[in-house]
Amino acid sequence: MTLIPPSFVIAIDGPAASGKGTLSRRLARHYGFAHLDTGALYRATGRDVLAAGFDPADPYVAARIAAALDPASFDDPGLRVEAVGEAASIVAAHGGVRSALLELQRRFAATPPGGLAGAVLDGRDIGTVVCPQAAVKFFVTASPEVRARRRVLELEGRGLPADEAAIRADLVVRDARDSERAEAPLRPAGDAILLDTSALDADAVFAAARAVVDQRLFAKPE
Ligand code: C5P
Repeated sequence: MTLIPPSFVIAIDGPAASGKGTLSRRLARHYGFAHLDTGALYRATGRDVLAAGFDPADPYVAARIAAALDPASFDDPGLRVEAVGEAASIVAAHGGVRSALLELQRRFAATPPGGLAGAVLDGRDIGTVVCPQAAVKFFVTASPEVRARRRVLELEGRGLPADEAAIRADLVVRDARDSERAEAPLRPAGDAILLDTSALDADAVFAAARAVVDQRLFAKPE
């Protein structure tokens, strides 16, 4: 029998525009791990519910759509649109949607595509629900002002209009919905390392996280 070594899993949770996506991509590239942006799964569900003309608040429709997602569509730039983000945060509160997406996320973590040795998953409940046994957990935060500013710069960088006050208000509503829902609310796992990125640039955040991962990855057994 061939024993497959366990995958080294890095769980990264935090609110919208906290910097967790950038950090996840950089860590995955640095360590040669696979990366799954789990928000894309909820966004794809929200997008498909809207495209089919249904209400994201309908739990039965949303759960059926989540169970039938096409993984080839997770890179769709249409997922980044604000209306889809809003629909994602509504469908994400339905227990049926969360359980429909759970197995896919756990399989990705346990057996990363391409036979890679580890996986970085980012989302809201990775350290608490999806991968409670992850080798390293980070909870990435930043103030609403800083996060709104980052979103504005990101949209402007793509040549899109951005209303900073409206973006900030949306972020606050989305944070509240994600944190106050009954199913897998956004909160740090007890053993997560908190990274407040309000006053740090992407390089400083990456350096801080890398120091932690290096220590766990290369720790000598007792
Ligand atoms: O991270 P992103 O903004 O793409 O996520 C969109 C929405 O998907 C979030 O507001 C949240 O409601 C939901 N989500 C979630 N659990 C995850 C990832 C995202 O509930 N693991």
